[in-house]
Amino acid sequence: MDLRVLGAHNAESKETRMESHLIDGVLVLDAGGLTRSLTFEEQRGIDAVILSHRHFDHVRDLLPLGIGIRNMGKTVDVYAIPDTIELVTEKLLDGSLYPDFLSYPSPDNPVFRLHPVEFFQEFQVLDYRVTAVPVPHAVPAAGFQILSGETNLFYTGDTGQGLSDAWEHVSPQVLLTEVTFGNEEEGRAIAAGHLTPKFFEETMIDFKDRKGYLPRVIVAHMNPPWEATVRRELKEVGERLSLDILVSHADMRISI
Ligand SMILES: [Zn+2]
Ligand SMILES: [Zn+2]
Repeated sequence: MDLRVLGAHNAESKETRMESHLIDGVLVLDAGGLTRSLTFEEQRGIDAVILSHRHFDHVRDLLPLGIGIRNMGKTVDVYAIPDTIELVTEKLLDGSLYPDFLSYPSPDNPVFRLHPVEFFQEFQVLDYRVTAVPVPHAVPAAGFQILSGETNLFYTGDTGQGLSDAWEHVSPQVLLTEVTFGNEEEGRAIAAGHLTPKFFEETMIDFKDRKGYLPRVIVAHMNPPWEATVRRELKEVGERLSLDILVSHADMRISI
């Protein structure tokens, strides 16, 4: 599996892009800094999009992606839990901002086709077996286990404390997760449903207690003002747990 990190932050600037990842050039995980990271040719190679939840930094590039691929005669399948599908249908792709990409250019062959998914029900996306698992966040949110051959990736999207239930359902080799704030901002992290390095460490200890191993970890969704602190505090976590933690950045390519 080729994982290309397109955006590894929760806010956009000249130096940072919002969260988005591309698997094997065809499958997108969240549509934050998606289109600004890809050529039109690369955008046209996308066949499916998985959205973790309704927040703007994870869904917004569906619109420019629609513009980028609208004349191809291609339909891109979009998968998400019903709460996210509702937001996309009623707010983002309702035709008020851009053409109605759910029925344009024709109802039989629209730019996007939405697929609501149920938690714990495995579904097939291209060559991948995918399962949505609830994760704790400020709004209904899903993590996704993605299986391809021998590769088992779990993408949490945005998550706060309390991933223990998720560990009952997935056993990833590779965990693609978030750490948004530094430890000093614990209150903000709890209120917004995000991880700090300390919360991340606790969830990894819990993971190891339940499963007897630790996965390879890739971290994204940093809040830019906290990035240096998060990196420093995560380095200490990695040393304490003897854990390989890769703090990602936009345009990083990772073979998994
Ligand atoms: Zn986010
Ligand atoms: Zn969020």
